[in-house]
Amino acid sequence: MAEYNRVSECVGLITLRNPPVNALSAAVRQGIVDTVQRALSDPNVKSVVICGQNGIFCGGADIKEFGSNMTGPPLIPMIHAIESANKPVVAAIEGSALGGGLELALGCHYRIAHSKARLGLPEVSLGLLPAAGGSQRLPRLIGVPAALNLITTGRHVTAAEALQLGIVDQVTDHNTVAAAVKFALSVAGRSLDPRRISTHPCPQQPDLDALFEEVMQKVRQSARGAIAPIACVQAVRAAATLPYAQGMERERELMATLFTSGQARALQYCFFAERAVGRWRMPSGARWDTSKPRPVHKAAVIGLGTMGRGITVALAQTGLSVIAVETQEKQLMEAKQAISGMLERGAKRRGVAPALDGVIYSQNIQAVADVDLVIEAVFEDIALKTKVFQQLSAVCKPGTLLCTNTSALDVDQLASETPNPELVVGMHFFAPAHVMKLLEVVYGPRSSPQAVATAMQLGKKMGKASVAVGNCRGFVGNRMLKPYIEEAFFLLEEGATPELVDQALEEFGFPMGVFRMSDLSGLDVGWRVRKGDGLVEPGTASGRSARIRQGRRYSPLGDLLCEEGHFGQKTGRGWYQYDKPGSRVARFDPWLHSFLGAYRAQHGLVARRIDHQEVLERCLYALINEGFHILDDGIAAGPEDIDVIYVSGYGWPRHRGGPMFYANMVGLAKVLERLEHYQQLHPEVPHLQPSSLLRRLVASGSPPIHKWGEAIKKLHSQL
Ligand code: NAD
Repeated sequence: MAEYNRVSECVGLITLRNPPVNALSAAVRQGIVDTVQRALSDPNVKSVVICGQNGIFCGGADIKEFGSNMTGPPLIPMIHAIESANKPVVAAIEGSALGGGLELALGCHYRIAHSKARLGLPEVSLGLLPAAGGSQRLPRLIGVPAALNLITTGRHVTAAEALQLGIVDQVTDHNTVAAAVKFALSVAGRSLDPRRISTHPCPQQPDLDALFEEVMQKVRQSARGAIAPIACVQAVRAAATLPYAQGMERERELMATLFTSGQARALQYCFFAERAVGRWRMPSGARWDTSKPRPVHKAAVIGLGTMGRGITVALAQTGLSVIAVETQEKQLMEAKQAISGMLERGAKRRGVAPALDGVIYSQNIQAVADVDLVIEAVFEDIALKTKVFQQLSAVCKPGTLLCTNTSALDVDQLASETPNPELVVGMHFFAPAHVMKLLEVVYGPRSSPQAVATAMQLGKKMGKASVAVGNCRGFVGNRMLKPYIEEAFFLLEEGATPELVDQALEEFGFPMGVFRMSDLSGLDVGWRVRKGDGLVEPGTASGRSARIRQGRRYSPLGDLLCEEGHFGQKTGRGWYQYDKPGSRVARFDPWLHSFLGAYRAQHGLVARRIDHQEVLERCLYALINEGFHILDDGIAAGPEDIDVIYVSGYGWPRHRGGPMFYANMVGLAKVLERLEHYQQLHPEVPHLQPSSLLRRLVASGSPPIHKWGEAIKKLHSQL
């Protein structure tokens, strides 16, 4: 809705009212049309100010209206009517002007922003483009290069940057509406022609073709298959080369294509899924809205290796006091330096003071006596972790939450070794922990809802996509990764190359295929886990039986490379070769290819031609199938949880919505049929055996993804 008042005798003040962000719902648009009309027809009104209630100008279109039949006045003519008004209209921008909100402001003749306001056209992140004239007005206002940058990335700019770019006319530290009213009075009666952005051409730009060619190339590369950034470039090109009316037509056509694309649906699904995972629930019935988190003022990190350092930084950046404990003196010194460096660089980027004093270092675990929460990040060794947890239980004040950053150990086993298992949860960060968005909060059967609520809230404070998951080997993310990686190994045995597998996955949209990723993270990591599981045997065995271990197909290829000392980038050799250890540019390794040939010969395998489709189906459907097992087991509460984990922590292309959304798009029956097909060909591979939940969902008519929760409940109640 929009409220109308006359202020300072001759300024019509329009206030958008639609909490929380004054989104442009049908009612708000109707309100704007009515109030603008009222202001323009009132002879006492000389100028108009548009603002939003509660310190927020406007967060943009009402995303809930997407996909439904649009009612109410459309945005484009509404903005056009404002721009054509014969009285100056000033946007008073507080909080944020995003998407349609900024497009509305661009239709106004002047823009005044509060110094803390943020502006942007983030439509691209929802698979769309600014299609209420934003792609046509912004380049006319600030020039093609700056507009391309903003529109193709969707990034938000501060008020200071907006002033520098020319998006706003004035920035104030004081009351924005009062400043806008004063400004509106000062410009009353002035000619508005120069202020109607759509009536002007874009500022001259030398060598326009070369600029667009260069930008298009960059965008294509970084988009990894997403089409919206490309459509954004095309729309800006229309602004730069066509008259406004034709540019608008092009904007409309491009938007229509995007709107009906699966990508926009996937990206909007991700937007809602990220919000849905905050509304966590446990199988016990405990939920986010009935579980109160404990306050955390002071935290501790135990073990300052790769993970502990990043976790310390992430905690300190939220303003918490952190006690950082490391037993090895040399490690402690190195960690201190590394953490200070990370805090300083992070603070510089964000334009704030580094929280160096927020971290206290110690070699003594006694130093954590008065903290509210501890995150343990010592070596992945159950005996060591158990000892540390027992020490913590003795040292910490009653009620301190004990969290482990284990990648795969049993959180419940650790909890059972402490006197208060209800206070134990997993907080599974991803490397580098201060950068990576994902956090799996792992609850065991004994974790209290309050412990989960506290870890979830802390994750949110650190800016993480935090997902509550049940306790099982590998939790959600790594558990699903295992069959994906195993399929990639099997494909190599059958005739594929690392290059072929990686290319197929990278074309699908992953930043790195399985083998590049394995080289980056180190082949020795998985080798150690497989050794621990008793799977690794001497490499001399040959024939089919050598590739069956613990009753299922096994590929020893990774183990054999490790035996050669090929650990990936760190040793300069892995699935690819590198110029020197630590170098990042992967090159074809002739040795690896003759090694693969010899391996196949030794094991009686005949290489066959494998295409991208098979790579995708076997790797992705195996991973998705594990996702269905996870849903069936209740380890993840819903498909959104799995999808957020994969998109924010495992490089799954966001424009494909996450593995479970992808399965839904492909069609559950098709996924089932392909799994059955591959299972017949490879009966010794249990992860290709379709999950019973997948079968049951297909048998019940393949409900759409938003109905899976209901369907799973119903199917479980029938068991
Ligand atoms: P790391 O080897 O880099 O660091 C472990 C640190 O713990 C070392 O500095 C060691 O000196 C210290 N330490 C050992 N015993 C200690 C004790 N009793 N008190 C204090 N400090 C002690 O290991 P990492 O890669 O940081 O992994 C730590 C944990 O995080 C492991 O459980 C691992 O599985 C998990 N994890 C690792 C990654 C990753 O990518 N590295 C990702 C997620 C989770």
